[in-house]
Amino acid sequence: MIVMKFGGTSLAGASQIMQVGSIVRRFVRSQPVVVVSAMAGVTDELIGLAEGSVAGLPRDVSRRLDRLHGRHRREARLLGVSHGSGSPLERGIDALFAELEGVCHGVLLLRELSRRSLDLISSFGERLAALIVTDHLKTLGLRAQYADARDHIVTDESHGAAVVDFEATSHRLRKGLLPGVRAGVVPVVTGYIGRTRSGATTTLGRSGSDYTAAILGGALKAKEVWIWKEVDGVCTADPAVVKSARVVPRISYQEAAEMAHYGAEVIHPKTMMPARRAGIPIRIKNTFKPNAPGTLITSRPAGRGTAPLLVSSIDGMALVTVEGTGIFGQPGMILRLLTPVALAGTNIYMISMSSSEYNISFAIMQSDLEKTLKALEKDFRDRGLLGEQVARITVERGMCSIAVVGAGMKGQHGIAGRVFSALGDAGVNVVAIAQGSSEYNITVVIKGRDMKRGVRAIHDRLNVGRAALRRGRRTNLRLVGTRGR
Ligand code: ASP
Ligand code: MG
Repeated sequence: MIVMKFGGTSLAGASQIMQVGSIVRRFVRSQPVVVVSAMAGVTDELIGLAEGSVAGLPRDVSRRLDRLHGRHRREARLLGVSHGSGSPLERGIDALFAELEGVCHGVLLLRELSRRSLDLISSFGERLAALIVTDHLKTLGLRAQYADARDHIVTDESHGAAVVDFEATSHRLRKGLLPGVRAGVVPVVTGYIGRTRSGATTTLGRSGSDYTAAILGGALKAKEVWIWKEVDGVCTADPAVVKSARVVPRISYQEAAEMAHYGAEVIHPKTMMPARRAGIPIRIKNTFKPNAPGTLITSRPAGRGTAPLLVSSIDGMALVTVEGTGIFGQPGMILRLLTPVALAGTNIYMISMSSSEYNISFAIMQSDLEKTLKALEKDFRDRGLLGEQVARITVERGMCSIAVVGAGMKGQHGIAGRVFSALGDAGVNVVAIAQGSSEYNITVVIKGRDMKRGVRAIHDRLNVGRAALRRGRRTNLRLVGTRGR
């Protein structure tokens, strides 16, 4: 069995869905279990719809609903699976829109949007896509069956980023899907969504369909999980920024997770965990070039010494520095300092600390800056620690972080030196530095306007002459690597 997940871009419209259909048919002997995202852009539209509803904008809401409804109907018709009103698919689509309209109406009336309602509204994209793909596969002669992930994936109540109960989920998935798959059924599962024990719809976090695929792969003991995307695989850097970037034929779960964490959008960072635990390889493949080998992710690193190092970057960051003699030199200080940051819900990308312990810097998304500063200042004020001599907080905006990731650097000397000399030669000033103790990554913070220059300089300095790079294939697709805001 192979779990195959198709992302939004692979499902953008009828012609892309036909391509998906031909891929599934081609691999039908491998017992595919299909996982789908919402059609491209639909989740964003649904969130806009929820926001329009809570803002009390009925006209905006009905315009958005009409547009989404029209798009799904049109693509279904173009696929030829729906011949106008009255066909079962069209009735299914209409029923989902009637339900969605009802939910939005409630939000409009109450002018209140809980995270729970937002999750419910966000769930419609995957449900619609799965309906359409199921019908299309049936017209190709496959025994496809719509499978609502909410019947299988059990989560807690943390709406927006729900935590999966793996035991209950695995049990349900095996009971619910395995007998069908063994009998030749191709389930088409809604990615991204789950349900709490009390019956509320939840989502697993944006881009969570990759994670759904890995959960399924682990529970069903699939041979492999294939993530079909619009790119050739994991690249050594964003090909839109670095001309010499190459697809990496294989990397380890850890390298892939670090890449994802530090900005490469090719795969959701949580995806690796269930696959790694169950020892199931993940393969990234290009929907529009199904014969290309893609990238294989397993527990084995790409190899030492000759393996390419991966460079990824995140734009739109801020560097926060806290300094002062009053708060330092006490045990547990870092914990106390960073606790309010964590409680504010801010993700810290890197931390660096001076050995005098008089200052500590950490990089966060600029969009989290305001709430983070508020939380820090409140905490310091409560503890009587604010004031020039005691604790000063300074902020540098418009920063970016560049991470160099790869098992290839472990135990190899001189990598950090080459990173800094590459940046120095390119005239890029390094503002902060951190190295993971796993020796799998080095992160630097530089000014955002230096990002492209910095990424190119590091990538080319580190990967020049590496065998894997020479062997690597050229990619002509825009993709990965760079996350901006
Ligand atoms: N449709 C969801 C999103 O846009 C999940 C996914 O694409 O994986 O975030
Ligand atoms: Mg998506």
